[in-house]
Amino acid sequence: MIPRFKLHLGWDEFRALFRRDKNAVQEFEKKFAQAFKSIDAISFPYGRSAQWAFFNAMGIKDKEIIMPAYTCSVVAHAVTLSGNRPRFVDIQLDDYNMDLDLIPKLINENTKAIIATHTFGYPQNIDRLESIINEAEKKYGHKIWLMQDCCHAFGAEWNGRMIGTSGDVSVYAFNISKIMTTIFGGILTFQDPDLANKVRKWRDANYQKPSLFKSWLRRLYLLSVYIAFSEKFYGMTWWLQEKTSILNRFTSAYHLDEKIHFPPDYKDLMLDVEAAVGLEQLKKYNKIIQKRRENALWYHNNLRRRDDWIFPPIRKGATYSHYVVRVPNREKVINEYAKKGIHLGKLIQYSIPNTAPYKKFGETCKNANLASKQTINFSLDKVIIEN
Ligand SMILES: *Cc1c(COP(=O)(O)O)cnc(C)c1O
Repeated sequence: MIPRFKLHLGWDEFRALFRRDKNAVQEFEKKFAQAFKSIDAISFPYGRSAQWAFFNAMGIKDKEIIMPAYTCSVVAHAVTLSGNRPRFVDIQLDDYNMDLDLIPKLINENTKAIIATHTFGYPQNIDRLESIINEAEKKYGHKIWLMQDCCHAFGAEWNGRMIGTSGDVSVYAFNISKIMTTIFGGILTFQDPDLANKVRKWRDANYQKPSLFKSWLRRLYLLSVYIAFSEKFYGMTWWLQEKTSILNRFTSAYHLDEKIHFPPDYKDLMLDVEAAVGLEQLKKYNKIIQKRRENALWYHNNLRRRDDWIFPPIRKGATYSHYVVRVPNREKVINEYAKKGIHLGKLIQYSIPNTAPYKKFGETCKNANLASKQTINFSLDKVIIEN
């Protein structure tokens, strides 16, 4: 069966898994900052942990943080667990990014940060967002932090400028479903050395060295998912996931949609073995992105058009973490393809303000609702050829 995504792992990564490299984390931070045009980068055990740490390190508390309604729920959890309240912005349906027109109305004297997610690899209009923030800062007389969430959009460009290279801080995540992996892991990138130093100090004072046992579990995990996501074995993985609850035991420690929840090791430093895998992946990410762009274009030109399907745009500078089509009858389409041996993903199946922890705010985001019910995504690691 063709999996909904593939890991780009080879001998280099497997060798890195078993190499002793005590400086891998610092080396990875340095090389990552270079590759993504930043002056510094600080690593974390998860992307959400990085976001949480930033708000804590900046002393942001009891404030409002503006973010999209349609993105990974862990972003809202990071905001909430740092002692702040997320304010949700509806998305626009063409590129799934925040509708920037809605932001000025949401900003008030309590707004302390905006998280801009470049969803599915589509760059958000950063120029416009920065000018909205400038105006609001003048009006309210205090700093409003801009955090760019680049977890879907490694290396994407807005107007020829790499996203994540402006604003105050940017976040990238590296779990196995991202553009490149460090097994788990996340990183913050900075343009301001003082800000970076402040966050690094806070991390080092509050995060602990992980156990040796964990590093072996991580190795085992990567080897297992590599096998589970290979075409040969993926049929079984899919079956276990769809027909049994065995795999939930493993995934529920990491992710629960309906509960504010972080894994218990969210205050561990990144492991050397994770960074070592990341260093190998950094050598490849450009090629991976290139291939995704080619495959997105291929789908755009070759995937069979159906009357009630809405195709995603091809955009200059986009890096396509997912190729997302909107269909009115999602389950039917997914089943149809599963019978043909193709697993289509349904990535974000909720609008965050509708989920249990955030319902109490009574916010509804119409477009986010629609997207959460209709999107399917085709593998960009291998194009699916229909006949
Ligand atoms: C993956 C992801 C994160 C953080 O991921 P972790 O699972 O915490 O590493 C944050 N934002 C977005 C948009 C993501 O896709």
